Amino acid sequence: MDYVISPPPQVSVPVVGLDARFPVHRVYCVGRNYADHVAEMGGDPRSEPPVFFSKPASALVTDGEAVRYPQATSDLHHEVELVVALASGGRDLTLAEAAACVYGYGVGIDFTRRDLQSIAKKHGRPWDTAKGFDQSAPLSALTPKANFAPSTDTPICLTVNDELRQSALLGQMIWSVAEIIEQLSRLFELKAGDIIYTGTPAGVAAVAKGDKLCGEIAGLNALNFDII
Ligand code: MN
Repeated sequence: MDYVISPPPQVSVPVVGLDARFPVHRVYCVGRNYADHVAEMGGDPRSEPPVFFSKPASALVTDGEAVRYPQATSDLHHEVELVVALASGGRDLTLAEAAACVYGYGVGIDFTRRDLQSIAKKHGRPWDTAKGFDQSAPLSALTPKANFAPSTDTPICLTVNDELRQSALLGQMIWSVAEIIEQLSRLFELKAGDIIYTGTPAGVAAVAKGDKLCGEIAGLNALNFDII
């Protein structure tokens, strides 16, 4: 095939223990999935179904790669999240079918330009500029599901310059991974290569140039990088 310009590169993520990488198709995110974070943002956790939004696959940043402080914000917030990668997909999946789609898991940060999001929320506008900007989706190497399963007592945390900012258990998620995939499949025909950021616990806050971030979920490779 000839193209009139050079085609964009295939975005991919390393896989723990393998030379082969996971090719990324689309990036979906869940907007509110921990009761304490919903409360800190002024919402009621059980009143509504999950809010989904997306980021371009090109927003992904792999472990160790520095993130340049983005344009158009003075309030860049971290949101540490369990990320699930799909090996298969489908539409209108059952819960069992949804669970069977999982390839593996990673630790991600859903960077948010909170100032732009506040303006968007106030005016009922889309979140794209607040969420889907360049380098807004750092992600650790993925661990295949044979070697990791999220459980209710699995810790998730984020430190900034070795200071603890977010700390929770995956059991505090309002919707499980399978429920998220099931519900997302009612909106989109999911495909192999899709990845989903599953929402953040409380403790979101601003980061600055020079900060060193470390996202961790017990049993997964950590995510470490600097803001420059
Ligand atoms: Mn998030």
